[in-house]
Amino acid sequence: MIQTEDMEFAPRVVSPENIQEDGDIELTLRPQSLHEYVGQDKVKEKIAIYIEAAKRRGEALDHVLLYGPPGLGKTTLSSIIAHELGVNLRITTGPAIEKPGDLVSLLTSLSDNDVLFIDEIHRLSRAVEEILYPALEDRVIDIIIGKGPSARSIRMDLKPFTLIGATTRAGQLSAPLRDRFGVIERLELYNKEQLTDIVRRSAMILGIPCSTDGAAEIAGRARGTPRIANRLLKRVRDFADVMGNGEITQEIASVALSRLEIDALGLDSLDRRMLQMIIKGYGGGPAGLETIASAIGEEAVTLEDVCEPFLMQLGFLGRTPRGRIATRLAYEHLGLIPPEDSSGQLKL
Ligand code: ADP
Repeated sequence: MIQTEDMEFAPRVVSPENIQEDGDIELTLRPQSLHEYVGQDKVKEKIAIYIEAAKRRGEALDHVLLYGPPGLGKTTLSSIIAHELGVNLRITTGPAIEKPGDLVSLLTSLSDNDVLFIDEIHRLSRAVEEILYPALEDRVIDIIIGKGPSARSIRMDLKPFTLIGATTRAGQLSAPLRDRFGVIERLELYNKEQLTDIVRRSAMILGIPCSTDGAAEIAGRARGTPRIANRLLKRVRDFADVMGNGEITQEIASVALSRLEIDALGLDSLDRRMLQMIIKGYGGGPAGLETIASAIGEEAVTLEDVCEPFLMQLGFLGRTPRGRIATRLAYEHLGLIPPEDSSGQLKL
């Protein structure tokens, strides 16, 4: 195994997954209306129209599929949709619905036009998915009663409802399930200005004094993800309390984030390990994802869901049919010299 610069496996401050330390703060910081929801303008515009139309007709909103990396606001947007529709929201996840019966009791407990949110919908089992098809299409469920030759199927009507499915991997959703969503929207990574707004809003709610450039410093290193921006804000606040007078300034944010090993562009040690492995272990690539993952002792899905979207957005990583490649920008960012080919041209 090739040793890279930093091989420690500390918990990632920049993990976009919900981790325990986010706790109740996520609830406090969650925007309540489309107006408060920063960014994702195209998605918001469309959703606002669909909500208005459903309300005018007194009907349930069409089923919605939201996809994109974790921490971008899929759950938040769903709770806003339910709130704006004036209906109840039930939240669950694909793996939590173990048996078809679990889904049946969820569906039959909904009131008119309620929203059912299923996170990680790509992880529903086949048997559960099959209950969902007629539920989504014809608002009915087929229940089998009894066993063996005497078993019979009865059909039950459901109240009108909206399913909002969220997934980090739209590609893993089966085609029949995907086809039953009327609205399919991808959430994008946020830009620095939008994240600055999110950090300033969160700082205000939490009563943390934070200058605009302090917020921008945190935003610039939050890898396009509101959940990470909010988490970094909390961490930087500790530094501001101990090192200064409690106010988050650009200088304090910069020192704090460097101590947390998050570099100027928001890469953490796992991102750097991945790039260094491609560069030092495989001459810049192409290298297969599984190979890179096992070489650095990380799960391939983590690299694919968490590191790659961000590294590709920065233009540091390319995906080719033969594997991943590190780009010239990646070499430069890591202070390495990009290789030249035999004609003296840069290879990348
Ligand atoms: P996901 O469901 O995509 O993993 P969440 O909806 O749980 O992400 O969002 C994580 C946190 O990020 C929320 O608690 C919320 O505070 C914040 N957040 C997400 N999107 C936005 C947004 N557009 N504007 C402001 N805050 C946001």
